[in-house]
Amino acid sequence: MARKIGSRYTAHQILGRGSAGTVWLGEGPEGPVAIKLLREDLASDQELVGRFVQERTALLSLDHARVVGVHDLVVDGNDLALVMDLVRGTDLRTRLDRERRLAPEAAVAIVADVADGLAAAHAAGIVHRDVKPENVLLDMQGPLGPGGSHPALLTDFGVAKLIDSPRRTRATKIIGTPDYLAPEIIEGLPPRAAVDIYALATVLYELLAGFTPFGGGHPGAILRRHVTETVVPLPGIPDELWQLMVQCLAKAPASRLRASELAARLRELQPLVAGMPPLDVDEPDTEPAAEEAEEEPAPEPTPGAPRRGAVPLVPRSSPDSNRDTHTSMRVPGPDELAGGARGTARAPRASGAARPGSARHRASARRRRITLGVAGAVLAAAAGIGTWAATSGDDADAGPQDTNNSSPSTP
Ligand code: ADP
Ligand code: MG
Repeated sequence: MARKIGSRYTAHQILGRGSAGTVWLGEGPEGPVAIKLLREDLASDQELVGRFVQERTALLSLDHARVVGVHDLVVDGNDLALVMDLVRGTDLRTRLDRERRLAPEAAVAIVADVADGLAAAHAAGIVHRDVKPENVLLDMQGPLGPGGSHPALLTDFGVAKLIDSPRRTRATKIIGTPDYLAPEIIEGLPPRAAVDIYALATVLYELLAGFTPFGGGHPGAILRRHVTETVVPLPGIPDELWQLMVQCLAKAPASRLRASELAARLRELQPLVAGMPPLDVDEPDTEPAAEEAEEEPAPEPTPGAPRRGAVPLVPRSSPDSNRDTHTSMRVPGPDELAGGARGTARAPRASGAARPGSARHRASARRRRITLGVAGAVLAAAAGIGTWAATSGDDADAGPQDTNNSSPSTP
């Protein structure tokens, strides 16, 4: 069932199906390639084809060992295709689904690879904007690295932006998981390189824990957590690694490390996690359990009450005292750029607080989530989603190098 794509490529067999189309194993003048053939409705969209051609240069320019290279963009009759490096292996989501959690050594090695790819992209002025396990491919033919992990490559640069116009987003409701969405995007700032660092730190957390730090439940609750919650510590990982994750999950984009620094730090920490088994942690429940909901009832949202500023999401708690969000965004100092910055989103372990991972800690984390599930959903629906939806299709301020739209993801 070979099929011609343009004059130079032949698609032979389907490798996989994604939200944007079908990926084929193909052949080109330089040998085997992967060809992502966009969905018909996307390919027939004239505006999209125009953007596709516009993005050509940025997409083709990125050439790095940790990035799935785009060789060609083909617009041919009804076909719209991206011709890419062929990666023989699987994506990181598939591996995570299979193993549930990765050994820290493998997780750190994979994320360091992706950080290398991001560093190259950011140096070229390209922001990915859709870093998530689905977009990390593992090259099974590459040499085994630390923890027995294969080389990881970041893919789908530019694709989210291509398929996501404001019109299309409204028309087809392409809204994926907001689990990896940086707080500044939710609050309406144009995405800069730091959004990729936040997303990648979220991926690292997920690889270690088996769940994302702010995920679970209603999408509105997830958005709200990104903006206001501090990340719950993971028991059993070396403190240096934890501090690194906290720093990269900082609410303030300027406080996060740069991609090259993150890659370097992760490789320094690699020996610390050598041989460690996967963590043993429980995912916090996100659905309200009857008896716990009774124990700590969610506050009644007051209709018409002002919802400005820091809103405590946990009843009787004070708002996050360290909400260093984008509102205090500033240019990082030389020490921060050198990697010496402290994270702003601290692990919420006050003295006397339950040890992370203990039953009491888990119960309290669960309660926090339960409250969020109810109150957060209401608040976020009002505060978060509006901004998010408004910005997710907003191209106006995307510079020419921003090859991706701020869409959270493609499902
Ligand atoms: P989408 O982003 O549109 O949802 P994906 O990029 O995830 O689609 O592609 C779907 C599947 O195709 C992936 O899970 C993977 O198995 C396969 N695939 C994608 N890109 C490549 C590639 N460059 N080389 C080999 N297989 C690929
Ligand atoms: Mg993808």
